[in-house]
Amino acid sequence: MEKQQTDKSETQELPPEEHLRHPLFLNALQAIEEGGKIINADPNIVARLKRPKRCLIVSVPVRMDDYNVKVFNGYRVQYNSTLGPYKGGIRYHQDVCLGEVVGLAALMMIKNSVMGLPYGGGKGGITVDPTKLSRTEKQNLTRRFTSEIGPFIGPNKDIPAPDVGTDPQTMAWMMDTYSQEQGYTQAGVVTGKPVEIGGSLGRNGATGLGVVYVTERAFEKLGKSMKGATVAVQGFGNVGSHAALYSWERGAKVVAVSDVNGGIFNGDGLPIKDVIEYVKNNKTVVGFPQSQKISNEELLYLDVDALMPCALEGVIGAHNADKIKARMIIEGANGPMTNDATKILHKKGVFIIPDVIANGGGVVVSYFEWVQDSMSFFWDEEEVNGRLKSIIVKAFDKGYTMAKEKNVDMRQAAMAVSVDRLQKAMLLRGLYPR
Ligand code: GLU
Repeated sequence: MEKQQTDKSETQELPPEEHLRHPLFLNALQAIEEGGKIINADPNIVARLKRPKRCLIVSVPVRMDDYNVKVFNGYRVQYNSTLGPYKGGIRYHQDVCLGEVVGLAALMMIKNSVMGLPYGGGKGGITVDPTKLSRTEKQNLTRRFTSEIGPFIGPNKDIPAPDVGTDPQTMAWMMDTYSQEQGYTQAGVVTGKPVEIGGSLGRNGATGLGVVYVTERAFEKLGKSMKGATVAVQGFGNVGSHAALYSWERGAKVVAVSDVNGGIFNGDGLPIKDVIEYVKNNKTVVGFPQSQKISNEELLYLDVDALMPCALEGVIGAHNADKIKARMIIEGANGPMTNDATKILHKKGVFIIPDVIANGGGVVVSYFEWVQDSMSFFWDEEEVNGRLKSIIVKAFDKGYTMAKEKNVDMRQAAMAVSVDRLQKAMLLRGLYPR
């Protein structure tokens, strides 16, 4: 038998590449390690979970409206495929870099595992401010990017979906480009499509609805109710606006919401349906009548029952954790809090529902969309929402039980549940070639 020649310390250490040093990724690695420790995971398994399997960098030349060509950077990271095809969104944002995409892809692996889905983890993105592009430029960018990553995606390989800065229209262009190049319609190559072309009912609001399902469950566990509870929502994109709407519909008092331009506050609660209408016409929440202007930062420090950070990563860290007054934090965004901040706040008695559970509703309904596409048999919205509730509440309960059993916070517990499932599958599949 061949002897293993490698020096252990060498194989366990991360190489110095910049994309493996991004704070979001380092934070995910720390969480994976902590999760592994809780279940006494095999160090060889943990070492494998700490590296992305494949990172793809593409150049995306785009004909702009002024006829000049601009070349954008695009990425797709295929982090892990033990449990099934790679799965995760595509982000369009000016701060996108390979390191961020690696971190987000690692979170998708954890999330898909903890949600019990038959998926590995992946993520993609383009470094671009989509608000600065015309519709034609956005379409050209999306189609060329899809073509560049085309050989690596597919309904059985890697299935993108919307994320920050992308939407159902983006997915429609991706599906069409991929299908044109294959020569026939392949609806299941992406999820989050419009319903007219193989999307699922309920997908658009699914992440926000999932946030609210787990919030309700947490209130129930703490012997409280969502009705009358005060809620602040940071971010009013797809996730934040739906989380605010469904909270409001359940009788919660949504006292503050915000977007990139700033926030609005009303101590008696904001009429969220009207705020959504206002945003349709004004493109921002700022200036909404019956409200006071507040900053994004002030919103985070409000004294509320539930704080939902639904924008971008890294908004709560060790530097500002002590300013948080909320009694519960539900992470609608990916990576809005660091592990250190989680620990500080957990110690203070704040109940935290981590991203990999809280915002899992999106990918759960993506899974339903993929299943419906493969059967060409579509469900009604009630069925979608009912199944979503049962899956996400089950994931929450698993995390909650683990947290109680091991006396850890919900992030550590979710990591432990996730690593446990991944480990079982990896050990069964073995290491190729051996
Ligand atoms: N971008 C979403 C997330 O971060 C959805 C991913 C998906 O549906 O594949 O979970």
